[in-house]
Amino acid sequence: MHETGLVVRALDDAFGSDGMPPPGSPVELVLRDPLRAESSTIAFLAGLLLRERGLPHPQVRVVVESRRCAACGATGMPSPTTPTCSTCGLPYRQLDGPAIVVAVSTSDRPSCV
Ligand SMILES: [Zn+2]
Repeated sequence: MHETGLVVRALDDAFGSDGMPPPGSPVELVLRDPLRAESSTIAFLAGLLLRERGLPHPQVRVVVESRRCAACGATGMPSPTTPTCSTCGLPYRQLDGPAIVVAVSTSDRPSCV
């Protein structure tokens, strides 16, 4: 399952290989490219991988970025199972760069999403 590789890479980029966030810090994963992964799968895998790294009770939140259709300009929320624009029906283009990036907030203050 390629989502595992995407989550491992995002965690490695944020914390180093086998590193983890400070205990008690919520981990926010920003799913930049929802064409490449499902948010529920990402949340599940991140929790599993952080427990494997030694964080007993990881707090994981996934934020999914919406996409703008290059053809018609409509904003939508594609997924691996619905990769086309709901307005014009054309497929969304895969984004360059990482599909997932990790943000760690050091307070439990809610961030604007
Ligand atoms: Zn469109």
